[in-house]
Amino acid sequence: MAHATDVLMKHFKDSSALFDAIMQSAVDGMVIIDQRGVVLAFNRSAEKLFGYKAEEVTGQNVSMLMPSPFREGHDGYLERYIATGRRIIVGTIREVTGRRKDGFQFPLELSVSEFRSEGCIFFSGILHDITERKDDERALQEARTQLEERVRKRTEQLEHVNERLQQRLEEESRMAAELRLASKVFENAGEAILITDENARVISVNDAYVRITGFDRDQIIGRNPRIAKSGRHDKSFYKAMWDGLRESGKWSGEIWDRRDNGEIYPKWLTITVVRNEADEVSNYVGIFTDISEAKQVEERLQQLAYYDSLTNLPNRKLFSERLEHDLETALRHKKRLALMFIDLDRFKYVNDTFGHAVGDELLVEVSKRLRGCVRKADTVARLGGDEFTVILTDVGREEHAAQVAGNIITQLQKPIHVAGEELLIGASIGISLHPQDGENAETLVKHADIAMYQAKKGGRGIFKFFMEEMNAWTRHQITLEAKLKRAVERNEFTVFYQPKVDQMAGKVVGMEALVRWEHPEHGVVSPGEFIPLAEETGMIIPIGVQVLTEACHQAKRWLDAGFGSLRVAVNLSARQLSQRDEFRQTLEAVLEDTGLPPEMLEIEVTESMIMQDVDHTIKTLQGLTEMGMHLAMDDFGTGYSSLSYLKRFPIDTLKIDRSFVRDTPADPDDVAIVSAIISMARSLNLCVVAEGVETREQLVFLKNLGCSIIQGYHFSPPLPSDKFEDYLRKFSM
Ligand code: C2E
Ligand code: CA
Ligand code: CA
Repeated sequence: MAHATDVLMKHFKDSSALFDAIMQSAVDGMVIIDQRGVVLAFNRSAEKLFGYKAEEVTGQNVSMLMPSPFREGHDGYLERYIATGRRIIVGTIREVTGRRKDGFQFPLELSVSEFRSEGCIFFSGILHDITERKDDERALQEARTQLEERVRKRTEQLEHVNERLQQRLEEESRMAAELRLASKVFENAGEAILITDENARVISVNDAYVRITGFDRDQIIGRNPRIAKSGRHDKSFYKAMWDGLRESGKWSGEIWDRRDNGEIYPKWLTITVVRNEADEVSNYVGIFTDISEAKQVEERLQQLAYYDSLTNLPNRKLFSERLEHDLETALRHKKRLALMFIDLDRFKYVNDTFGHAVGDELLVEVSKRLRGCVRKADTVARLGGDEFTVILTDVGREEHAAQVAGNIITQLQKPIHVAGEELLIGASIGISLHPQDGENAETLVKHADIAMYQAKKGGRGIFKFFMEEMNAWTRHQITLEAKLKRAVERNEFTVFYQPKVDQMAGKVVGMEALVRWEHPEHGVVSPGEFIPLAEETGMIIPIGVQVLTEACHQAKRWLDAGFGSLRVAVNLSARQLSQRDEFRQTLEAVLEDTGLPPEMLEIEVTESMIMQDVDHTIKTLQGLTEMGMHLAMDDFGTGYSSLSYLKRFPIDTLKIDRSFVRDTPADPDDVAIVSAIISMARSLNLCVVAEGVETREQLVFLKNLGCSIIQGYHFSPPLPSDKFEDYLRKFSM
């Protein structure tokens, strides 16, 4: 140590005073240490800094001036520096922490320089207290942080404001666009728009308004829209409208107004009340469309949905609704109601014969006549085809309904002139009464229908009131149907034969095959009881085949047995005839199976049968005659065939209906009819058979007219085959 001091002193020997002066006058603290860290010099400023006297520090390790963590590393650091020359401190200015004698720590700026002399290394450190600067720095830092914080906050606020401004801007531009759109809509709308002030004075209308109403803008602006009132609505209508507006701020409805040209038209109007911020009415906005066209379409649709397009009568739908409604009214006022079902008797014939156009015209005429028979409050409806109904409301007594029905029948019996033709139709009417025949519409309809069916069955051209027995009859039909079905399956049918006798030649020339139902319990059932049902249900087809087969077999047997050439006549039903080719094939098959020559078979058809689908019937019948079969027109005179008409069919024989023969020769009318038929047949070169001949007088009468072929009880009723065979034997004897 002494050596180092000496060396230092020696180094500064010539300038020791200067050294001392510099040391002591320096504002910064100065410390000189040797390479071990021992303090060699410590100036006054250093004393002030550290609170140590120079003599307290000199000779001590400099680390005493450092706080704990630095102190420990200092010696090692010096050693490493001297050994390796790696500097950390030397040559730089660093901020370090000093430790005062009283233990207080403070920041220092330290710059160290090194100098060597005579193999010794020294370090001089200049120390500058930077407490103040540090404090300033900290304060500054704090101030900056605060400032930054404020700036950040402000920025945030600004951003927020900006955002809202942006939103506001967008909103405004959208509103502007909407406004533009609204005014465009206002101007170009198809709906008329009218805006008034709070006193309902018009302030604006659009083009559509001008177009629809015909009013110019200056005619309406400033005035009350009521100038377009049509006068169609009463005060209460407008009151209800204003009440609605007051209550809900909105009113919609159909309203009739007047156009400038005076025309009254319907429109669909919606009025909306507009209120200002103070919730006071500021405007009324009316939007409307002209619905006159839509109304027309609606009316047309209504017409289509509820009325028959041909006759303009209510259709089935409207009929049902009216009936329900009328029933309610009748119930309320304790009135009687009558329901009629009307069926035209020969409509199908007219339609098939003269074509649909004529049929249609006929229906139109019929509907006119029907309307003419009832009061205004009554309903005449067409349910379809030739089915009409009449609802008579307020029927005093049953007789009233009977009168109306009778009148309808009379009116429809009068000839109808269509397309140069005189058409004769007629009607059958079934009547049900409310309340006695049914409480509800469904029952009344069912019962009127049953009564009508009975009227038709009862000979047509009549009306029938529904009777409870008719219901029983309907039930009977239903059980009968089931039994008939079984009979077809079990082939419970047999064939009876009734001879046709040539009274002049005195011999049997043929026989009519007549079906019988041999019911296991009821015994023999006659065809009158089941043929209509069999026709209706289609069971007549299998029955017909069974009869045909049996009859042909039998005829062939008698032919083979040598009874002569007896032609067998088989009755045909309309159903069989409408089978056309299929029926023809059946015939061919039966003839082939039985071996009966076709000319030994005669087919009996009725007028009404062949009047259906005339052209096809003619074709089918022609096919049969071409095969060699004979054709007879059965029940002649009951239908409506005219002479010219008859010529079109390939008929060989006319059979005069029993009903005309029955009262001859007593009834002059029947005598005239039978005579006419016979002479007509002769002129057409047709064979005539008189049916239902029961008495000698009839026989003679017919003989005198030249009618030779006779069928009837006078000779024989229909007989089972064995009895018929006996008859043949007896007759030829
Ligand atoms: P229709 O073809 O006019 O047959 C003649 C009917 O008159 C037969 O009645 C016969 O018994 C009856 N009759 C004959 N002569 C007399 C008489 O002197 N006095 C009276 N009061 N009646 C007489 P039936 O057998 O009861 O047949 C009734 C109807 O049933 C037939 O009338 C015919 O239309 C139909 N029918 C009978 N058999 C068949 C069949 O196999 N097929 C079809 N589709 N219908 C048949
Ligand atoms: Ca017959
Ligand atoms: Ca007959």
